[in-house]
Amino acid sequence: MAMRQSDKPQVALLVTDLDNTLWDWFETWHVSFSAMLRRLEEMSGIPQPQLEVEIKAVHQRRGTSEYSALLTELPSLQKLHPNGDLLQIYDSAIHVLNSERVRTTRLYPGVRETVEELRQRNVPVVAYTESVAYWSEWRIKKTGLDGLISTLYTAPDHDLPLGLTVNDLRKLPAEEYGLRATDHRHVPKGVFKPDTSILSKIITDRGLSPDQVVYVGDSLMKDVVMAQRTGAYDVHAQYGAAQHRPEYELLRRVSHWTEEDVERERTISAGGDINPNYTLQREFSELLLHFDFREA
Ligand SMILES: [Mg+2]
Repeated sequence: MAMRQSDKPQVALLVTDLDNTLWDWFETWHVSFSAMLRRLEEMSGIPQPQLEVEIKAVHQRRGTSEYSALLTELPSLQKLHPNGDLLQIYDSAIHVLNSERVRTTRLYPGVRETVEELRQRNVPVVAYTESVAYWSEWRIKKTGLDGLISTLYTAPDHDLPLGLTVNDLRKLPAEEYGLRATDHRHVPKGVFKPDTSILSKIITDRGLSPDQVVYVGDSLMKDVVMAQRTGAYDVHAQYGAAQHRPEYELLRRVSHWTEEDVERERTISAGGDINPNYTLQREFSELLLHFDFREA
């Protein structure tokens, strides 16, 4: 028997996570980062395990695992080239990182069609990510979502070493950066999912109540818990969950997360006590099967 339209909750706003919900951030990170690591080992003779330990320390200090000036702060490389310009010396390692990132960054199947469908229905799509401003903007542009996402909420950019500016690290003309049609807002430093303050604000700013809103993301611990606490419809993008892949161990070894974060995520992804009310098993477009999206 076909489901009647009225059986689906009627909603007027979609708020979505970005990484591993709209695109496979983890895959891109792994392919590009491990290629850079191999190149660094070849060029410097410093074994990868040593580099990994030093990289983790920098990531933790900077509070991000996507730190553009990473190589300038690795003690082994500093020791090897006391007065050298590390970004120049290891340019080819940075190049392989960037080219792999460009090559592998793309939307999951069905994302673009679904976002376009919601736009046609005048249902706004708002994105909320914990990734930093710079890389989030880059991925939105690269995947062609600039303008399709009405508002983008990101973490602010990380700090840079003394004397370096973001422009020093940019290799493309200025017009390649920044979004043209999506409104970009920053989340205050130190606010992390599942804190509900940003999602609640997104909802009230639009004059809506939580039961008119769908929130979708790949992390049970962060996304699903946050949506449930806010009172929005929580949707788990199960197809994006990467924590069980063997390659994920490299991210655990070098990321800025604390041991506590890593353990907590391990327990939860192994089947903890968080139960999403809705699950997208294979594609983002399954959202349209679960909800009746309509202009408020
Ligand atoms: Mg995510």
